[in-house]
Amino acid sequence: LQRNPGESEFHQAVFEVLESLGPVVTKRPDYVDANILRRIVEPERQIIFRVPWIDDAGTVQINRGFRVQFNSALGPYKGGLRFHPSVYLGIIKFLGFEQIFKNSLTGLPIGGGKGGSDFDPKGKSDAEIMRFCQSFMTELSSHIGQYTDVPAGDIGVGGRELGFMFGQYKRLTNAYESGVLTGKGLTWGGSQVRKEATGYGTIYFLDEVLHARGEGFEGKRVVVSGSGNVAIYAIEKVHQLGGTVIACSDSSGYVVDEAGIDLALLQDVKEVRRGRIAEYAERRPGASFREGGSIWSVPCDIAVPCATQNELDEDDAVALVRNGCTVVGEGANMPTTQAAARVLVSAGVAFAPGKAVNAGGVATSALEMQQNASRDSWTFEHTDERLHEIMKGIHDRCAETAEEYGRPGDYVAGANIAGFNRVADAMLALGVI
Ligand code: NDP
Repeated sequence: LQRNPGESEFHQAVFEVLESLGPVVTKRPDYVDANILRRIVEPERQIIFRVPWIDDAGTVQINRGFRVQFNSALGPYKGGLRFHPSVYLGIIKFLGFEQIFKNSLTGLPIGGGKGGSDFDPKGKSDAEIMRFCQSFMTELSSHIGQYTDVPAGDIGVGGRELGFMFGQYKRLTNAYESGVLTGKGLTWGGSQVRKEATGYGTIYFLDEVLHARGEGFEGKRVVVSGSGNVAIYAIEKVHQLGGTVIACSDSSGYVVDEAGIDLALLQDVKEVRRGRIAEYAERRPGASFREGGSIWSVPCDIAVPCATQNELDEDDAVALVRNGCTVVGEGANMPTTQAAARVLVSAGVAFAPGKAVNAGGVATSALEMQQNASRDSWTFEHTDERLHEIMKGIHDRCAETAEEYGRPGDYVAGANIAGFNRVADAMLALGVI
């Protein structure tokens, strides 16, 4: 706490992992001797920089940029960039820390990192977004590379922003280094299924959780928070598997649509028009919009938070349990507060943590890196099949590890321990560096 003052989200993420590692420390004194725990909570490198840009009125604006290169024991740093006014070092460090274990769980050769800026893309013109992204990349370009650090998207960073950043990187380096960023468009080095991967992967994971309980999505009422990249494709996959998503949200409020969210309309409102969720209800007969309030008061069988950190608190968890919810899977990073997680687990809800559930995005980014390295491009079906296999593998690894360490059914312990052990073994092998 003293070494990282004021970084509450980072403290929360570290405590959540350390809480699970008791049985590991007992079993592996060699990790303790090598001081792995002290080393793993300290980022290898943190970069903070000024991002100057000029808005449409001709005024010079200044934002702050970050890249935290947390751990490269397993491979090049890998993790997204977030553009949101709430971004500060504590958010980037929590996300970078989580990313180490998430990337480890995929079984692929990627280390952990994260970056972003306190820039707010909302209400900005395309030209302003481009000037900001070019300025951001002008500094970031000296710190990244296909063998060093490979950023991707996150909140506020999608195909448009990645395009502007890749364009600037290409111009600065005079090289078409496709492997330097992932989440690229299909015409300039991107992979099929990357856009859908986090949402699809989330639902593939939860499908495994349901199968382990002898159930499936068929006939289930599902609530998905958010209406961004992760939420949209989670909703699509739930519907493909026979469930019905009856509510989704953005930061202004939530919509309830008992007939099931109309995906084409949601995509038009959010992806094409970049509008607010209230517009969905205005255009959809039978749907209603509620400003503010908590989406978790809507009764459901399965809850999938896909918006942002700490969006599901203790009162929300109590409401979910009271309304009969039996499965909660985190599509977002750390959306459930620790108090809420305790309520869910003690009520017997199957609770699956983000670092396992939403790992499909980064896993498919690693598949994009593979395709870039071999100058190949796979079909949608093949890539989706790989994603599905990877998510099943992550689920089974978490379940088996939880069992092995005496915590059967505890996905949090399983994910933390399995993710940690692989990184710790690599750190031991590489010596004190
Ligand atoms: P987007 O920017 O595409 O969408 C974010 C959604 O969450 C929007 O609907 C947004 O509403 C809502 N939201 C953001 N902040 C808040 C808030 N403070 N309160 C309520 N709603 C909010 O981001 P993504 O879908 O990419 O990311 C969502 C989550 O998933 C994040 O936690 C991210 O770290 C995580 N994640 C994303 C991956 C990816 O591949 N994209 C991979 C793994 C995890 P509004 O538009 O009103 O702000």
